[in-house]
Amino acid sequence: MLRSTGESPLCSFGHIATHAELLRTFHGQESAIIPFRMGYGRTELLRMGVYICSHLTEEERLAAWCGGHLDCVTVLAGLGLPIAAPDHPHLRFRRGQRGAAARWRADAPLARVHWSGPRTRVPSLEATKRSARKGGLPDRLRMPWREALRQAMTTCLTYAESGELLAAMCDDGFAAEDLAHAITVAPRRVYVALLRLGAIPQDVQRIASEALEREHHS
Ligand SMILES: [Zn+2]
Ligand SMILES: [Zn+2]
Repeated sequence: MLRSTGESPLCSFGHIATHAELLRTFHGQESAIIPFRMGYGRTELLRMGVYICSHLTEEERLAAWCGGHLDCVTVLAGLGLPIAAPDHPHLRFRRGQRGAAARWRADAPLARVHWSGPRTRVPSLEATKRSARKGGLPDRLRMPWREALRQAMTTCLTYAESGELLAAMCDDGFAAEDLAHAITVAPRRVYVALLRLGAIPQDVQRIASEALEREHHS
């Protein structure tokens, strides 16, 4: 989902920011926040004290509204990976996130919700702003793709779908590091099946087995 930064003053904040976060960023100067609140159609008040970019999709709005993040197959499909977009968005909440659960039950009962604690976190506001300054595409509405992949391969993709996805990533020229990560989160039997087929490049195999070894010892 490529977008230029600067569509709204909130894009460099990952498309969402609370009043408190903005105040912290601008050292408590209320006047500095006015452009974020009155974004001339480019920003909106999502709910009391939370601002979002107006360009958000329905799914992004839903995640923001519930206080969770888009996750799993929803994130992977949005990246153009060969995965069918699910009928209902997959969302991630932190365990025990009560407000989010209440809003989800009231407003999005059809969303598929995951409660697991992430290994790779959504970037903080500070990290998002650093990345925006370097021309990155910050996003605080969805889980990082590596984390979304782990979730999908653990819970929502069948072995066959995980295998097809991994094979497609190998064909698609993904960086070896990224492929190796995909292997470390894939079900073991999927990895072994692809190895037997000779579908995993040698350098990727090496990085993946080192990573698996580290994980085994940690
Ligand atoms: Zn934005
Ligand atoms: Zn899922």
